[in-house]
Amino acid sequence: MAPILLLLSAICHLIVIVGLTLRPTDFLIGTEPQLSFNRTDLHSASLDFGKMTSIEPTAVLHPSSAADVAKIIKLAYESGHGFVVSARGHGHSINGQSQAANGVVVQMSGSSGAPVAPVVSEKLMYVDVWGGELWIDVLKSTLQYGLAPKSWTDYLYLSVGGTLSNAGISGQAFNHGPQISNVHEVDVVTGKGEVVTCAENKNSELFHAVMGGLGQFGIITRARIALEASPQRVRWIRVLYSNFSVFTHDQEYLISLHGQPSSKKFDYVEGFVIVDEGLINNWRSSFFSPSNPVKISSIADGGNVLYCLEITKNYYNHSDPQSVDQEVDALLEKLNYIPASVFTTDLPYVEFLDRVHKAELKLRSKGLWDVPHPWLNLFVPKSRIADFDQGVFKGILGNKTSGPILIYPMNKNKWDVETSVVTPNEEVFYLVALLRSALQNGDEALTLERLSDENRQILKFCKDEKIEIKQYLPHYTTQEEWMDHYGEKWPQFYKRKMEFDPRHILATGQRIFEPSFISKMKSW
Ligand code: FAD
Repeated sequence: MAPILLLLSAICHLIVIVGLTLRPTDFLIGTEPQLSFNRTDLHSASLDFGKMTSIEPTAVLHPSSAADVAKIIKLAYESGHGFVVSARGHGHSINGQSQAANGVVVQMSGSSGAPVAPVVSEKLMYVDVWGGELWIDVLKSTLQYGLAPKSWTDYLYLSVGGTLSNAGISGQAFNHGPQISNVHEVDVVTGKGEVVTCAENKNSELFHAVMGGLGQFGIITRARIALEASPQRVRWIRVLYSNFSVFTHDQEYLISLHGQPSSKKFDYVEGFVIVDEGLINNWRSSFFSPSNPVKISSIADGGNVLYCLEITKNYYNHSDPQSVDQEVDALLEKLNYIPASVFTTDLPYVEFLDRVHKAELKLRSKGLWDVPHPWLNLFVPKSRIADFDQGVFKGILGNKTSGPILIYPMNKNKWDVETSVVTPNEEVFYLVALLRSALQNGDEALTLERLSDENRQILKFCKDEKIEIKQYLPHYTTQEEWMDHYGEKWPQFYKRKMEFDPRHILATGQRIFEPSFISKMKSW
């Protein structure tokens, strides 16, 4: 009896040792031709735009169809050990949201292009695109038909699935809503490996869950995006303010015109804060220079903060230039900006939409693109935006910000409350985006530690002052914080997770749910 027990104990010991040294995905080696274990692939899947966290997956899947995505998720869902799976679009997250520790990253956007080409319906004014398609390529394909999506992000080198998993916002959102309000239907591979087509009126629970769902409920493999006739040109205008309440009054007035005919409203309303003398002529503001260099001190009314309203009017080749001027003038007349601070430029629509890429190339050439980005994006209720101005722009930030600070209001009624996104409980709320780059150039004010600390101070300020902000592109590290973020939407969010990804396989880089097999994994 004793030798048998000894043998059994030795076998158990061996199983434990082997069990611990094997990674849950090791059994995948050699099973799928699209799976890569190549070091370069693993390394690039471990990185993101934020450059603040890096976790390598065990493998990277380069899918050539939704069926490939379904196969890997089904394997993860059904395997005894379990492993996590994260979609990665263009990897432009800040805090490792598309990383997959000890799991598989599904590389949805690739250098070799989407596996499925966009299909445009001219008649029904939509385009069907692969979930990893970049918005720049969506635009290029629809322009061939004289059409374009209605709602944008400021930067187009982001994937369709990546922005729809957040919301997708820019200066058109006041009018058309975020990108998630402009999607007819999507194909989704759920956390059980099922491919489901869903829309507002078909499998609507899953449709609403994935819109702004942070990748928690499924991987979007196809999206049907609403189109409009594409304008050909844009009148792009910037005007300056030294008084915050006049600035926000004008912004709010402009977005209140959303229901008006297009001749009586602007097509895009954004704005930014200038707290840094250098910034007015910076990359987002190249607009002002070199022909129009602006010195803050010459116009800032004694203070050191200026606000810039940014608006555009789209027009067509067939538009009468005189009537475009008249429409713009009639709208500007209603605003109370600093007289003589009107900066106007006129450019092709595509150049306007792709404006940030131009800035990217400039920053890349100076080695200033691939640096850590401790970004903070907040939705601030309209009723507290003045307090935010006092406490943050005129308080915590000092006079160095290390990047653009965007500020613009949106209309809540353009957001579908059934989706997973949470926004403040007011009819109008602002996006405040602190888009910072940390530098190691000897300037203490620009280090990653300093900027991250400032972000914490801003969040603390809002908490102490009871400003009910919501983070956009949210980042939390505990489930309690996530529950707080979702507030009354948490039970619905949780229920949807249990239904569509019951083993918590998907998008664990968001750190909302622990995988159900966590105890078997070395790290999460
Ligand atoms: P990734 O970083 O690859 O993924 C983000 C998250 O989405 C991950 O959790 C991932 O698992 C999940 N995901 C990715 N693809 C899919 C899919 N197909 N199905 C389901 N889940 C998926 N946002 C705006 O709204 N407006 C802006 O103007 C804007 N400008 C930006 C400018 C820059 C320079 C950068 C870096 C970001 C900007 N963003 C903006 C934020 C951007 O929308 C998000 O970071 C978005 O997630 C990036 O898309 P991505 O393809 O890089 O996603």
